[in-house]
Amino acid sequence: MKNFKMKNFKINNLLVLMLAVIFLVLSMCGCAMKTSETGQLSKGTLKEATRDIYAMDTYMSVTAYGYGDSAKEAVDEAIAEIRRLDLLFSAVSENSIVYKLNQNGEAVLEGDSLEIVKKSMDIFEMTGGAFDISIYPVVCEWGFPDRNYKVPTIDGLAEALSKVGSDRIKLNEKNGKITLEEGQQIDLGAIAKGYTSDHIMDIFDTHNVTSGVVYLGGNVECYKMKADGEKWRVGIQDPLNPGDGASYLGVVNVNDEAVVTSGPYERFFVDDIGNFYHHIINPMTGCPSQSGLVSVTIVSPDGTLADALSTAVYVMGKEAAEVLWNEHKKEFDMILMTEDNKLYITEGLADCFEAKYECTVLK
Ligand code: ADP
Ligand code: MG
Repeated sequence: MKNFKMKNFKINNLLVLMLAVIFLVLSMCGCAMKTSETGQLSKGTLKEATRDIYAMDTYMSVTAYGYGDSAKEAVDEAIAEIRRLDLLFSAVSENSIVYKLNQNGEAVLEGDSLEIVKKSMDIFEMTGGAFDISIYPVVCEWGFPDRNYKVPTIDGLAEALSKVGSDRIKLNEKNGKITLEEGQQIDLGAIAKGYTSDHIMDIFDTHNVTSGVVYLGGNVECYKMKADGEKWRVGIQDPLNPGDGASYLGVVNVNDEAVVTSGPYERFFVDDIGNFYHHIINPMTGCPSQSGLVSVTIVSPDGTLADALSTAVYVMGKEAAEVLWNEHKKEFDMILMTEDNKLYITEGLADCFEAKYECTVLK
């Protein structure tokens, strides 16, 4: 395990890449503000509202456009919803249902907690176990939740890994009773942001906003068309050439869809001999996934699915992901970058993806 290294990924590029992330968010907001000004000039009353928040362990931004107070009201409600779901789903906050379940080994789930766990179980099945919320004991072994990073011992990792397996969680979908096996713990970190952005789309709907976008860490979800009638342009970070120009591997043009990217650079540490360890764990090995992919983007109208699949596909690797996509073409599309710098998109994106590199369309 000490020899684990991520090929083709220069550690010093990672810092530059973090700056690129910030650049991309800023450029996205800049684009949105221009739209608002145009709207205001032509219609007089179209207003933009934007708020930023740090929640779910990441920076988030919510922007909406609407007439009267609709945008402001929608954004305020969205921020309250982010806070509410963060408190509910956090694995580290002592009042959350997830924390209580992990401590007691059983709980009664209802509403959002039941819905997200049910969906997590479905996606566990759908991905052949690549997405597994019971990964938490392993994630803790690597020190990711409290950023107290460490390379686990062989025994420590084996013990944690023996607890992993969503198929051993008992969930009664009718009454919400959930029972974990001894030592099992769950973590909704790979799906909670997608679930939250879907809820924000519903809030936008309720307030009749004319368009909006949320950025929750690596998750983007877009509501309707931009105020100028064009699709939203979402830049995908380039994990291999972070210092090069705008630092994106492409731009996807979407409306009413989520665009969720998982990459090793979102959270990682480097040990004292220079080995690189990231936070997307292969539930089969308990180690950071080395599937040959360096970036996975999922595009789907279902933000919850997109979030979970971005993690799962990263673990599965290109070939297994293609099989999955062939079975679920109507539900999602994907953009994959492999560690030999090749870019692949599925055919649903052929007309809406502007690639920086030559890319192969998967059919
Ligand atoms: P991010 O949260 O940075 O956007 P992801 O959505 O890919 O990234 O989620 C990664 C987080 O999910 C990890 O920090 C960990 O808590 C958890 N996780 C890691 N591997 C898995 C997995 N195979 N299945 C489910 N959850 C995972
Ligand atoms: Mg995810």
